[in-house]
Amino acid sequence: MVDKIKKDICTGCKMCGDICPTGAIGFSTEYDGCWYPTVDTKKCINCGLCERQCPALNYIESINFDDPNVYAAWTKDDKIRFDSTSGGIYYELASYFINSGGYIVGCVFSDDYKSAKHVVGRTYKDLQAIMGSKYFQSDTAGIYKRVLELLKRNERVLFCGTPCQVAALRAYLGREYENLYLLDFICKGINSPKAYIAYIEELEQKYKSTVKCVRQKSKKTGWQSLATNIIFENNKEYHKDRYTDWWIQGYTCGNLFMRQNCQKCLYKSMPRQADISFGDFWGIEGCSKVDYEKGISVVFVNSSKGNKLLKNIKDKIHLETRTLEDVLIGNPYLFGQAVQKGDRERFFKL
Ligand SMILES: Cc1cc2nc3c(=O)[nH]c(=O)nc-3n(C[C@H](O)[C@H](O)[C@H](O)COP(=O)(O)OP(=O)(O)OC[C@H]3O[C@@H](n4cnc5c(N)ncnc54)[C@H](O)[C@@H]3O)c2cc1C
Repeated sequence: MVDKIKKDICTGCKMCGDICPTGAIGFSTEYDGCWYPTVDTKKCINCGLCERQCPALNYIESINFDDPNVYAAWTKDDKIRFDSTSGGIYYELASYFINSGGYIVGCVFSDDYKSAKHVVGRTYKDLQAIMGSKYFQSDTAGIYKRVLELLKRNERVLFCGTPCQVAALRAYLGREYENLYLLDFICKGINSPKAYIAYIEELEQKYKSTVKCVRQKSKKTGWQSLATNIIFENNKEYHKDRYTDWWIQGYTCGNLFMRQNCQKCLYKSMPRQADISFGDFWGIEGCSKVDYEKGISVVFVNSSKGNKLLKNIKDKIHLETRTLEDVLIGNPYLFGQAVQKGDRERFFKL
């Protein structure tokens, strides 16, 4: 049964919970706040579906391009670009989808900004909440089922998640759907929700107020500062960058509170799972200083569906052809594994 899966293999995608025909699978957290499957043996009928479809125990094959088209891109709308994590390409794709009556599925913060989960949306208000990276694990319980329900009703769906979440959705569905469009991003690895809560609660104590808004990789001091910006209910503001914020340092330098399996990710490879993949175009050459401040996306078009998607927003974005070599200069985590450097267990104990 899937609850025997090793802790350094399980991605926490929660797809096994959705696919179990008897609802026998739940999730519990370990000392590090990461969730893993548990099985209620009274409900389990030993059908084996959870293990057979698990994207961590079985590599999910993809028929996408081995050699995708590579672009540097950003939205022409400066406000959207400022509010997005990289170049705002996600926003433009999702906006096109909403305008044409489709559904978007992605990750939102909870109202108190202490957790994140995947939701289905179809309005600009939903898009405002979904845009922006949340650098800790999003709860995807139930989302695979909801996507299937939409597809069965012939709705068009744009799903965005980590590569392993996209692989999980493909495994859950078991076949391709013409109406489903998949997006993922270059993913260094996903952090423990428990470490994130500790970080937020520590700041709430320090500022003697609850959090009103969190922006990770805020561009207030430029894209490259990787700053976290937090506004509290008492209107005080926290703004620290990659050199001064412990959360960002723990993630970028030590990989200290990342999920353990992210050191052995199966999906840092090509062909990619999604129709389009994006990321930060770190180290890009030949762009202006202003563009470095505002954020530049790398875009991989991995399928003909992806090509079709990108064509729909061509008027809204600046797009230039680049190469895979250009991307690898500044983005080691496209293929490379993030190795944990610090004493992870001690960190969580403290
Ligand atoms: C955990 C994490 C690690 C990343 N690592 C890298 C990296 O090493 N190199 C790199 O170049 N880029 C990385 N990225 C991607 C980058 O931060 C941007 O998200 C991406 O370039 C898209 O930018 P955008 O401006 O187009 O859109 P944005 O508006 O930033 O995109 C938001 C989309 O990302 C999804 N999303 C946000 N947070 C999560 C989450 N926690 N789980 C699942 N989906 C989420 C949302 O649902 C939404 O669809 C990472 C992102 C995340 C969330």
